[in-house]
Order: sequence, then C-alpha cells, then structure tokens
Amino acid sequence: MSDPTDALRAALPQLAQSRLQSLRLNDGVAIAVLDAAGLDQVERERLEAAVKEALAGKPGVQDVRVALMADKPRRRIIAVGSGKGGVGKSTVSANLAVALARMGRKVGLVDADIYGPSQPRLFGSEGVKPEARNDKLVPVPNQWGVPVLSMGQLIDPDKAIAWRGPMASNALGQLIDADWGAVDTLIVDLPPGTGDVQLTILQRHKPDGAVIVSTPQDLALIDARRAVQLFEVGQVPVIGMVENMAGYACPHCGEVSDPFGAGGAEVAARDMGLAFLGRIPLDLQIRKASDAGTPPAASDGREGEAFSAIARRISSWLDNR
Ligand code: ADP
Repeated sequence: MSDPTDALRAALPQLAQSRLQSLRLNDGVAIAVLDAAGLDQVERERLEAAVKEALAGKPGVQDVRVALMADKPRRRIIAVGSGKGGVGKSTVSANLAVALARMGRKVGLVDADIYGPSQPRLFGSEGVKPEARNDKLVPVPNQWGVPVLSMGQLIDPDKAIAWRGPMASNALGQLIDADWGAVDTLIVDLPPGTGDVQLTILQRHKPDGAVIVSTPQDLALIDARRAVQLFEVGQVPVIGMVENMAGYACPHCGEVSDPFGAGGAEVAARDMGLAFLGRIPLDLQIRKASDAGTPPAASDGREGEAFSAIARRISSWLDNR
C-alpha cells in the first residue's frame, strides 16, 4: 500500500514541495515542516496558507499544522575579491582562513573561483572529493582546522571555463549551503573581476563584508577599484584592502626591499575611504610553502606573522559587528 503522505505531498504547490522538510499524518493531523529560510513575513504567511489550503479536506486529514523553521543561525560570509587574476587572492584567502583558525575562530573556506580553483592544492588535498550527507556536501577537513569546499571538487577544472551562469550559481549555492557543522564564518575566495559568481553571491548569499586584494601596481589598483564598486553597489561593507606582493622579502635575511614599489594599495585605500588591512611581501617562502600544500600562515615565521596581523584586523571587525 502506498504511503498516504505521498498523495498529500503531491497536492502541495511547487514552492511548498521544494521547501518541504517532512510531512507526517498523525491521527488525522497533517504536520508539514518547511524550511522558511530567507522568506519575509508576508511570504511566510503566504506559504503557510498555501499548504493549509492544499491539504485541508484531503482523505484522512482533519487538521493541518504547519511549522515554518526559523532561519538557521546564519553563517557570516566574508568575500575575498580582486579586480584581476594572479594578484594572490587565493593565497591570501587560504592564509587568512588559517590565521583566523589559529586565533580560535571557526572558519571554513569556499573556493568559488571557477576559472582557477586552487584551494585544494593550497591545502594539499587535491583529488579528494567531498562526501555528501543528507543531500549536503561535507567540507574536506585538514590539519589546519579550515574545512574547504571548492568548485574544483565539483567539476573538472578544464571544463569550468565553459560553465554558464546558472550552473556556476547553483554550484556556489551547494558550496555555501553545505554541511558546515560548527563553522560560523565562511571565507569565500571569489573569481577575479565582476562576473556571474559575484552577482550570485551578492543577490543570494549576501556577504557580511568584503576584503579586496591588490598588488601595489597602478593597473591592478584600477581593477581593484572596480571590485570595490561592485561590493558598494551590492551594499556589502568593504572591510578593507590587502596589498599583496608588496616589496620583495630577501630569502636569506628577510629584509623587504621595494623593486616594484609598495604602498600603492594603501594610498588607493585611503583615496577610496577604505581601511588598509596590511601588506604581504613577495616572498619565495610563501610561494614554496603554497606549492607544497602547507599554508605559510601556519608557520610562526615572518610569513605567518604578516597574515596574522591582517587576520587580527578582520577578527576585530567581526567582533565589532
Ligand atoms: P589569484 O588567486 O589572485 O589568481 P594566486 O593566489 O593563485 O593568485 O597566486 C598566484 C601565484 O603567486 C601563485 O603561484 C602564488 O604562490 C604566488 N603568490 C601569491 N602571493 C605571493 C606572495 N606574497 N609571495 C610569493 N608568491 C606569491
């Protein structure tokens, strides 16, 4: 005999079906539990009324109760963006996440860079696929306490470039709404520029704040301004700018010299009325450790300290929200 709730389920309007978490029939009382996350009061009332109307009077149903689950305690999202590729946005995202975790924060990392998903490599977990639990992805853990989910785990990176907007948007949703457990802050490494993934994150998963990464050169800074504007239009507060590859750290003595100039991002941040979060030198150790899949921020050396200083500023920004 078929389950009587199957017929009740089928009677629900589309929106209610997609949000249905459970439906039971107990002594003539139909109890529908729905996920109402993100709905405003009017929409919640409409959803409840639609479920009641659809189920009332159906065979075996004398009464209908609807439970709309309150919004889940929302994870905070910090988006890390840049105007163009190659400025070290992924490196900075990974290492800020590690530095925040070292401070005791429960952070997770979402690699939304469809064009060059590099977080699995930076965390030495290339080729590891996330498992699924109750239809949700389970982030891949690592020894640095930063669970990671990446577009690169979902798709063949060679095909990513051909992804159309809606596919990228859906994949982003799967990464952000994954089974993050105790994680309360997600660092999202965005693709460079201002494309579909950026629009989706602004429209569907509005970040609490954004960090912009730039190199000190003028050209990168012009692009960085565009990234800042995108967040401003989306009413996302920009926490501040990070200057990466600022000066060159001598691999022997650690002294930082400025063959390509430094300080450009600090000036640009000031011009735009943004906070300057700090600078990371161009440092062979950072590239080597990154390539080896051991985030340099996990070390106590000078590379680790440069990331920690920026992470402390972000942490106090989070505390003051
Ligand atoms: P993006 O995400 O902006 O495209 P990546 O984070 O992938 O950039 O960095 C590009 C390359 O630069 C990588 O090889 C990375 O190891 C290297 N890199 C990034 N930041 C630094 C740094 N501060 N010092 C040395 N190498 C760096």
